[in-house]
Amino acid sequence: MAECPVCAADIQLPDDTVAGELIECPDCGTELEVTSVNPFKLAEAPSEEEDWGE
Ligand SMILES: [Zn+2]
Repeated sequence: MAECPVCAADIQLPDDTVAGELIECPDCGTELEVTSVNPFKLAEAPSEEEDWGE
């Protein structure tokens, strides 16, 4: 169980979750990065929707 850093929802993570994995909060839809698995810690993932090309 981990806590969403954005909306504080409890998120159930599968046992095979690995650090660096990206998941989506089922509550607020924010993309989250698993920064640690023991214990589970989540951080808001950097947006990849930005247009770097310009
Ligand atoms: Zn959330």
